Amino acid sequence: MKGRLILRNLKIDLWSSKFSHIYIEEEAYNYDLTKDILKRFRESDVINIKHYKDVFNRSHQSYSIQKKSPKLILAVKKDKFLYNGSNMCESFGRKNFYYTSTIMNCIYDCEYCYLQGMYTSSNIVIFVNIEDVFKEITQLLQEKSIYLCISYETDLLALDGITGYFKKWMEFAKANSNLELEVRTKSANISSIQKVDALSNVILAWTLSPQSIIESYELRTPSLKTRLKAIDTAIKRGWKVRLCFDPLIYVKNWDMKYTKMIDEVFSSINSELVYDIEIGLFRISKEFLKRFRKLKDNSEIFSYPYDCSKGICTYSPEHTKKLLELVYNNVRIYIDENRVYVKEW
Ligand code: SF4
Repeated sequence: MKGRLILRNLKIDLWSSKFSHIYIEEEAYNYDLTKDILKRFRESDVINIKHYKDVFNRSHQSYSIQKKSPKLILAVKKDKFLYNGSNMCESFGRKNFYYTSTIMNCIYDCEYCYLQGMYTSSNIVIFVNIEDVFKEITQLLQEKSIYLCISYETDLLALDGITGYFKKWMEFAKANSNLELEVRTKSANISSIQKVDALSNVILAWTLSPQSIIESYELRTPSLKTRLKAIDTAIKRGWKVRLCFDPLIYVKNWDMKYTKMIDEVFSSINSELVYDIEIGLFRISKEFLKRFRKLKDNSEIFSYPYDCSKGICTYSPEHTKKLLELVYNNVRIYIDENRVYVKEW
């Protein structure tokens, strides 16, 4: 059983989809990354396009069917790259909180993923002109320090085998000490991390859930054990590591499952060396929830009767209190309160 689990996780982490079709904007051919990707996926059918939105934003697409066999779209982004951090996300007390998007969509298939509400397609768009992102950030850094999340609309590390963007971001962070980066992931792609020395202005943030929730709702993602092994390696190599117990999901025996998971987490990694912790409930905008209920009418997560207030839907105040208190109190056994952030509404 153990061997089978290891093989399953290896398969997930060495994931290298044979994207059967690659759509390429004419201008994207001028970039080295496009050439590298084409060398790597020699078997794929290449389709020339004028603009990625012609394919990505088409109407009558099925996000869930495309998810079974996503295609790749290589494009050159022209408009702005930096966005203000949403109030749905924890800012960790940082003032100038931004996020950026060099990749749209993800190889994983979490049932609760908000990207399915943002996009009509689950094909993966890679913007090959990352140097233009760096230019825009450099300009802003001349005015102020920035806290920037670079893995919000994708899982950057999970796709790093294709893009190599992690190393580029780290080189950029190393050259800009007034830039602080958060790289959020569920992957166990430790090989990309091991190629780079730890940086004091970069936080690697792992999302963790009980194994039964991973199996039910975080399809194609590495197991809890595999994520913990990756985290342990990253910490030992000197990286700042953030643990995100977010989104907490209200399931049968949730209290037992979350308690057991937190014990497992801190028996695998040294709590003293964890940079900080984030705790947050499942939450979703009212508009997205309405859309998801139509798209996924058999989803247990979206069928739940959430309380909605000011356009945001989440658990009832009573369940919110119970979930947050249980996880917070369990985390506090291992971590002092200054390092625990609870995202509340
Ligand atoms: S890992 Fe994040 S971005 Fe990827 S499918 Fe899951 S929730 Fe969405």
